[in-house]
Amino acid sequence: MLTTTRFAPSPTGYLHLGHAYAALLAWRQARESGGRFVLRLEDIDPSRCRPEYAEAILEDLAWLGLDWDGPVRVQSEHLDEYRAALDGLAARGLVYPCFCTRAIIRREVAQAAEAHDPDGAPLYPGTCRHLPESARRARTRAGEPYALRLDMARALASVSGPLTCIEAGGRRFCRPERFGDVVLARKQTPSSYHLCVTHDDAVQGITLVTRGMDLQPATDLHRLLQSLMRWPEPAYAHHRLVTNPAGKRLSKRDGAVSLRELRALGYSPAGVRALALPD
Ligand code: GLU
Repeated sequence: MLTTTRFAPSPTGYLHLGHAYAALLAWRQARESGGRFVLRLEDIDPSRCRPEYAEAILEDLAWLGLDWDGPVRVQSEHLDEYRAALDGLAARGLVYPCFCTRAIIRREVAQAAEAHDPDGAPLYPGTCRHLPESARRARTRAGEPYALRLDMARALASVSGPLTCIEAGGRRFCRPERFGDVVLARKQTPSSYHLCVTHDDAVQGITLVTRGMDLQPATDLHRLLQSLMRWPEPAYAHHRLVTNPAGKRLSKRDGAVSLRELRALGYSPAGVRALALPD
């Protein structure tokens, strides 16, 4: 089977060496196997993403010497597709509206605050899971904002057999139940990262997902969504995170040097490639 890898940045800032490492790794894996390398801009959160960063990302990747296959997929242009996937889950009774604010959830889970979902939020105690249909309808009609949550127990009951994923050449068991009823959509973000990423990996025919170790736990949830939606199963390779000399993961917030700053300092594309991914 032809290997298809992808690089899927969120346009929330300029690319730095951590991104260059991830992009080069995925690109090299595709090219060395005669496969495909595709790009995706994960820009579903309008409060954090900016078009000028999206443009800069493509320019920086081209400057680095990376080429990609097919059109760039821009998530904000496909909201209707994510909505259709959510509607499908709703029709099967696998999602429900949750009207709880963050403050309510925090208050309710104060005792069990150690457990977290893959987005770092406290595990949802299930408050809205059993709301009667009439209450749901009344609150929605009154304009109360809500999130859509996956009913984890029902979702697990509707997939057959144990859930596993292929990672680093082996197969391991997945345990999405530890995340509870995760959010799949919010008012501000009509579809969560988890739904969009699995939807798009399927649409773009990704066979090998290479991404940072920080996203490894989320893979358990992604395998569940793939199984529920009958999307194909890609293999996963979670790579190390590039850190600064103090051992902290590079991030825009902590002032990581961007690729364009390196470029302005006189670095060549080959020089930056060697810094990001030494042979
Ligand atoms: N958009 C995510 C990020 O920039 C990457 C998601 C993924 O590779 O699955 O961190």
